[in-house]
Amino acid sequence: MGSENGLRVIIVGSGLAGLTAARILREHHQDSTDLVCRVTIYERGSASVATGGQGIIIAPNGVKILESISYDRERTGAVPIYAIRTYDKDGNVGEEVDMDVKPRFGADCIALKRSDFRDELLRLATAPSVELGIGGEPAKTVWNKGIVGLDAKAGVVELSDGEKVTADVIVVADGVHSRLRNSITRDESHKAKKTGLTCYRVAVSTADAQKALGDLPLPHWWDPDTSKNCSSVIMAGDGTQRMVTAYPIRHQTYFNLSCIMRTEESSQSATESWHAEGDRAKMLESFSVFGESLHKILRYQVNIDSAATEVKIWELQDLEPLPTWVRGRAIVIGDAAHAMTPMQGQGANMSIEDAESLRLLETGAQRDEVPDILKLAESVRRPRVVKILEETRKSHTALGTVAERMLRNLDFNCSYNGIYQALKAKKEESTTMTA
Ligand SMILES: Cc1cc2nc3c(=O)[nH]c(=O)nc-3n(C[C@H](O)[C@H](O)[C@H](O)COP(=O)(O)OP(=O)(O)OC[C@H]3O[C@@H](n4cnc5c(N)ncnc54)[C@H](O)[C@@H]3O)c2cc1C
Repeated sequence: MGSENGLRVIIVGSGLAGLTAARILREHHQDSTDLVCRVTIYERGSASVATGGQGIIIAPNGVKILESISYDRERTGAVPIYAIRTYDKDGNVGEEVDMDVKPRFGADCIALKRSDFRDELLRLATAPSVELGIGGEPAKTVWNKGIVGLDAKAGVVELSDGEKVTADVIVVADGVHSRLRNSITRDESHKAKKTGLTCYRVAVSTADAQKALGDLPLPHWWDPDTSKNCSSVIMAGDGTQRMVTAYPIRHQTYFNLSCIMRTEESSQSATESWHAEGDRAKMLESFSVFGESLHKILRYQVNIDSAATEVKIWELQDLEPLPTWVRGRAIVIGDAAHAMTPMQGQGANMSIEDAESLRLLETGAQRDEVPDILKLAESVRRPRVVKILEETRKSHTALGTVAERMLRNLDFNCSYNGIYQALKAKKEESTTMTA
């Protein structure tokens, strides 16, 4: 156990954090004699869990890590985003923030359909090594089996059927409503809290939008000739925080529409999950001020009664910074460690960065060394995430202009280059301070 052949790793949750962690770790932890799979993902849902069809934007800090694990952007229909543009509710262009940032940060921003993104991460975690051109063995997936208990010191998890499984490393990536985070913090008070913002999300195909619009042209922010790979923010401009974020996904054949407003304006609570079915009529009413085209598209969409097109509602929640992410041989990552709202679009990026920090457990790490290695990862990850969470919170009440909001933190957010560089920078900084 924990021999030179690799560590036994249990990952709790097959979301973006868990699957990225599995891809990072699978390459280095296997039994070289009989190629026993050493990374196991336990997921309480089915293989297609959490594949809500809406969009997500991954920033250069996340993209750099994805590229390092051979992420296939073509397969996922990734759309590069070159600018963020604002519109007033009548469709007039406001400011435009240049996001063509590859020369500056080494990678671009990409927009994806969430389900395509997760499918690709699942492939990277579980495809045969020969297909990916890497060593190691695919991670094993166990669906429909939640983890209900955790002994972090001993490295034991309890499955929903009562079975107990031992590992050298346990990666807790069970999302915003984590059941296991408190086994690490030992404090039941760490729970995600509502932020007062609600988000309705739909993914609409351009074909459906055209049907909905009839004789009307596609809006300026949608038409590929005028939208030019922008992520557009359409503001109500009436003192409320109502806004719609719209960006192209899946080879530009779909658009993600995220409609954000203050919670008191929406009528439905989504306390238990942020995947609750949206209150369609309420959304239509609240966003009717955004002009005829958008209203027609939303109305058409909510009237299509199919799982693929359903409106999802997220009552946006976040988590106070945790005092620790590590206990014994367990580490909490992703939303379970630091749920934040999408106001800076960094939640999934942080999940990817957390997962990448597990590279510190690469080949040769021994079972006895695991607690210290996890602490080392935490020493970089936690302070960075706390800062990003604090900056994200500032946007909840004081929006400022979109340019101000996006540019204020761009350098800090996007210049991250992975755990090894971050540790090197930290060391250099402490050497300078003591000199
Ligand atoms: C409206 C909205 C828009 C967003 N947009 C962006 C964006 O543009 N860019 C960005 O970077 N971030 C964005 N985010 C944030 C991003 O979605 C999250 O940070 C990210 O999905 C977190 O991934 P995760 O793997 O930690 O959690 P999840 O994706 O929630 O995965 C957790 C998994 O654990 C499983 N699970 C739970 N409990 C157990 C258990 N006991 N045992 C086994 N399995 C379990 C769940 O079923 C699930 O599959 C957005 C969030 C919201 C709400």
